[in-house]
Amino acid sequence: MREAHAHIASHGRSMEMLDLSGCRSLDECLQTLARGASDTQRGWLLAHGARVEAWAEARWPAIEEIDGVTRGRPCVVMSFDHHSACANSVAMQAAGIRAGDRIEPGGVVCVDARGAATGFLLEGAASKAWNAAPEPDESTRRRHVESSLRALSALGFACVDDMLSQTWLGPALGEIERRNTLACDVGLYAPVVSLGEVAGRRAEWESSRVRLRGGKIFVDGTLNSRTAAMLTEYRDPAPGLPCGQALMSVGDVVEAIRRVHAVMGDGGELAAHAIGDAAVRAVLDGVEAWQKENGRESVKVRIEHAEVVDAADVGRFAALGVTASLQPCHLLADVEALTRYLPHRLDRVLPIRDLLASGLLPGRSLVFGSDVPIVRAEPEDSILAATTRKRAEMGGSSAIAPEQGIDERTAWACFGCEARPRD
Ligand SMILES: [Zn+2]
Repeated sequence: MREAHAHIASHGRSMEMLDLSGCRSLDECLQTLARGASDTQRGWLLAHGARVEAWAEARWPAIEEIDGVTRGRPCVVMSFDHHSACANSVAMQAAGIRAGDRIEPGGVVCVDARGAATGFLLEGAASKAWNAAPEPDESTRRRHVESSLRALSALGFACVDDMLSQTWLGPALGEIERRNTLACDVGLYAPVVSLGEVAGRRAEWESSRVRLRGGKIFVDGTLNSRTAAMLTEYRDPAPGLPCGQALMSVGDVVEAIRRVHAVMGDGGELAAHAIGDAAVRAVLDGVEAWQKENGRESVKVRIEHAEVVDAADVGRFAALGVTASLQPCHLLADVEALTRYLPHRLDRVLPIRDLLASGLLPGRSLVFGSDVPIVRAEPEDSILAATTRKRAEMGGSSAIAPEQGIDERTAWACFGCEARPRD
């Protein structure tokens, strides 16, 4: 079974952080932080998975409340979607964040009525506090990679595609393979900007089990933040961004394909993050333009996410030989955002049935993944979403484009296996 979209190192790192995803109240959150602070092995206390709206108090802890339980350790509590966070005084100071600072991109340091920082941080400010914690050293990184792959292997995955590979990941995987503790085969996709550097040293670590497959680009933002690039306007758009935010033009996509081809030659792959229908179309247009000059076999392109696809573009995937790399599990978290922001485009969300009907092959040119650690890696989540198009507890009327639902056997085939692997 194959996990086609994972972030191996950050998954492993998040497994060692304090996990707040099971918390039901502010009190439980503070208890978890206190337990973490009593572990003398920990430096920075990084806690992830906070879903404050689901807590009984429905509010973030105040800075004094976190200070009160963290014994002078720097502490940052990150929301599950990585767009907001809460930090204690020591972390704010270590990160150089002061009340009223504006920190790009879009960062806000919230203050109370007296102008003092509350510890609550948005966007760029949240990232700045989070990234102020020291990067793990080499042996810690290797441990993160090892434990991530072990966890994925326990879920039944034999191979994993890493979707934004760090320059150190290949060498780390090579070392893990030499130690005979490599739990899954890995395909690496490095950012196109560092692909040349990564490829330059690949002879030192590539093997039959660890391979550099290509480059990764970001063509737009995300649906939850309303920055996915859309062909039509969002209902209730982000300020100044009626159709979201295209990060690359068609010409930029062609240039990225050119770079991948220059480094990898025929057979190199480009993985393009494109969530909105305008971004998906930009990638398909770029592939078409490239193929006119260079032929169809010169480069393989896969579109990551493709959460909204216009009807006119569905057939172009198979026609151009483009792979759809989908994460149906995201639907489970995005139901509310989709219904609120794109009520007029719900019929275009993850048109899996149409994509298969147009000629994409499950497990080959239409593949499933999770995007772990953004969401958990359990394949059952994507099976549920691909078959029922909603969360388990929701009524049938909440399903998003239920006519695009597929049967369970086909859904497992998109993970590259014949049926539920653990039965
Ligand atoms: Zn991702």
